[in-house]
Amino acid sequence: RRPEEDEGYFNSYAHFDIHHEMLSDRVRTEAYRDAILGNTELLKGKRVLDLGCGTGILSLFSAKAGATVTAVDMSDVIYQAMDIARENKMEKAISFCKGRLEDLELPAKYHCIVSEWMGYFLLFEGMLDSVLYARDHHLAPGGILMPNRCSLHLLAIEDLDELHEAKGGKEASTDVVKEACVLTNAAQIADFNLMTIQPSDTEFSCPFTLTATRDGQITGFAGYFDAHFDLPCPVTLPTGPHATPTHWKQTIFYLPNPHPVTKGEVVSGTISVRRKRRELRSLEVSITWADQTFRYLVE
Ligand code: SAH
Repeated sequence: RRPEEDEGYFNSYAHFDIHHEMLSDRVRTEAYRDAILGNTELLKGKRVLDLGCGTGILSLFSAKAGATVTAVDMSDVIYQAMDIARENKMEKAISFCKGRLEDLELPAKYHCIVSEWMGYFLLFEGMLDSVLYARDHHLAPGGILMPNRCSLHLLAIEDLDELHEAKGGKEASTDVVKEACVLTNAAQIADFNLMTIQPSDTEFSCPFTLTATRDGQITGFAGYFDAHFDLPCPVTLPTGPHATPTHWKQTIFYLPNPHPVTKGEVVSGTISVRRKRRELRSLEVSITWADQTFRYLVE
């Protein structure tokens, strides 16, 4: 991807609204806070790279934990992060580098790389590529990633109010699934160990089996992720319909027609996730089930 093609992506992060939305997402922000401040013995006196610092919140947590931080962001929001660090008297512990991580020469290897890179359905936005690049170029031997593991999950839903939506087209929808609309258990469709995966591993096909927990009609499938910090004091950031809603909500793949199921019935299919060619930040998802394939775009 050429940097100039990505200008729109970084400009979208220059405005305060998007950062306000992320900061106000307490489930998100407090999961990072708990992971960093609950594991200070790992970070005290160590070097931390905050990849995509935005307003600098994760740098502030890391500095509070006693680390020396390098905060990187390509977007102009980094100028606000500098002011915020000064206002919090943390400017000595945090150095800021404006630029695309992949274009920067950084002074040292880091004991920890912290990043909040997750997009809708985890993989939308493709920022994981930058995390894996940072891991391969800037992580010291024995260093850690925060988060270090992310799982993707799928379940079937019944939302008869949203039937009209399905007729519309094949864009995935981003919406909160009410717990009462959940119709099956959840299947794990991916478990990414960020320490070892390669960018190509984010394109995959996975069979799934779901069991209806009651009688109803499947009107779609909902996908979501959990981010894991497998540390001495472990933390999970869940984004599924059984947890407190986050700004990621859930990613819904509506079916063109409802499909009746009875309690205990097993629904098996396959889900495939691909990057969209020439638009690598978007995803193509297809769900094959009951001899039909349904295709969706997450963009
Ligand atoms: N860490 C902040 C912001 C997260 S949003 C918080 O938790 O609130 C992700 C940020 O990463 C955006 O500000 C975006 O501009 C930045 N970003 C994404 N890819 C990047 C890259 N390759 N190099 C530098 N910054 C990047």
